[in-house]
Amino acid sequence: MLDCENCGTTVDRADAIRTETMGDLDRDRWQTLCCPDCGARLETVFVGDE
Ligand SMILES: [Zn+2]
Repeated sequence: MLDCENCGTTVDRADAIRTETMGDLDRDRWQTLCCPDCGARLETVFVGDE
């Protein structure tokens, strides 16, 4: 579970919105998890093994 610092909700990883990372990270390997309620960025995760 992830806690959104912006709106205070608790988000299951499965419910978080996945977006492409910013910057130089390989977007096939890294994605950003965002809060489904407010859209704030929660965590950048490695997805290269999926
Ligand atoms: Zn939020």
